[in-house]
Amino acid sequence: MTTPRKIAFKTLGCRLNQFETDALVSQFRRNGYEVVGFTREADIYVINTCTVTNQGDAKSRKAIHQAVRRPDKPVVVVTGCLVDGQKEKLQKIEGVTYFAENARKTSLFQLVDAHFKGETLSTDELGRDLFGFELADKTFHTRSYIKIQDGCNNFCTFCIVPKVRGRAVSRPAVDILDNIRQVVDAGFREVVLTGVNIGRYDHEGMDFERLVEQILDLPGDFRVRISSIEPEGFGERLFDLFSHPKLTPHLHLCLQSGSDQILLRMRRFYNVTTFMGIVNQVKNRYPDFNFTTDIIVGFPGETNEDFNKTCEMAREIGFSHIHTFKYSVRSGTRAERMPDHVPEKIRQERSRIIRDISAENRLNYLTSLIGKEQIVLVEKVDQRARTASGYGQHYVPVEFPAGQEVFNTFARIKLTGITKNTEPILLGKPY
Ligand code: SF4
Repeated sequence: MTTPRKIAFKTLGCRLNQFETDALVSQFRRNGYEVVGFTREADIYVINTCTVTNQGDAKSRKAIHQAVRRPDKPVVVVTGCLVDGQKEKLQKIEGVTYFAENARKTSLFQLVDAHFKGETLSTDELGRDLFGFELADKTFHTRSYIKIQDGCNNFCTFCIVPKVRGRAVSRPAVDILDNIRQVVDAGFREVVLTGVNIGRYDHEGMDFERLVEQILDLPGDFRVRISSIEPEGFGERLFDLFSHPKLTPHLHLCLQSGSDQILLRMRRFYNVTTFMGIVNQVKNRYPDFNFTTDIIVGFPGETNEDFNKTCEMAREIGFSHIHTFKYSVRSGTRAERMPDHVPEKIRQERSRIIRDISAENRLNYLTSLIGKEQIVLVEKVDQRARTASGYGQHYVPVEFPAGQEVFNTFARIKLTGITKNTEPILLGKPY
């Protein structure tokens, strides 16, 4: 019996990258490769890079250097957004075997397999396919990310994504529905719709709401989560859909700033009034609805007054989690050429303030759910501590005493309290 080849993956950046890596991991496993941790010795290292922020660039480069410096000279494959954005610069790093742009990521197995058969394919020979990823194994997670869309046509002035991921493309609905049927049959209990700008889904006249309706009509014991969405491209029909028991009451609705002046400079497609309109309509109908968001602090021209408006809005909406980004220059974006860049010290301080607001909001939100019910998807059963934990439908972490709970099943839990740690967890009991 031959020893299986070892392959290690490093994923930087967003959920879309994570989804794509998971699918590749499964494909290599199914074909007899052993998947090992990135710090372990392997025959092949795949780095799925990110270039959304300077930090994403730096972490991606660090991982590439770690791989090429390995003494045993492994096959190193670099893919993802940094390749689309800075391939020429990356090519100066010695020791990388292949670079594959996002559109060629689905063919990485073909590339590596051919390599070990003694054929050297040029990545240009690989097909371009944004959606042809194989189904991920159930062994990693209880939820499966489903890619419904890629690319973006918005060109926000700080964002490099449309340049590296390209213009918006929507995956045919029949393929999405087939993919969901497969993952539900394979045992996944939660599907998360993912893409770059999913609210703009549009395939041959089918819009996002219609797509979600069709997904919710599929049979099976599963629930659907809409991941990060821009506050545009959808309407009231989407709010109606949240009354469906399969659609989880949570949206990661990207705010970025609470100042109209800054939103305009960012070239966002909404203002504070329209954003608040969405939030209020949803909260009026579903008072416990969970909103999380992204905020960029220190965008060029952001004054104290602008920043204070963002803080007020973050508190008023009560986002239960705020993903805070300190603005950093991305070359090739319009914001790069804008005047009035904010000094690092101020950006740091603003970032700290938003993180504090996020922590306070989170505690308030979780506390407000005590006494209520969550349907928890069990992701972990700790036999020794006799506890089980997972996420409720509102995307809140819940822990409860384990009885007969089984991994990857739904448990109905009455919330009774909350832990006091920095990352609070709701406590409850089955009922
Ligand atoms: Fe980037 Fe704006 Fe498109 Fe989001 S909507 S991917 S921030 S350009």
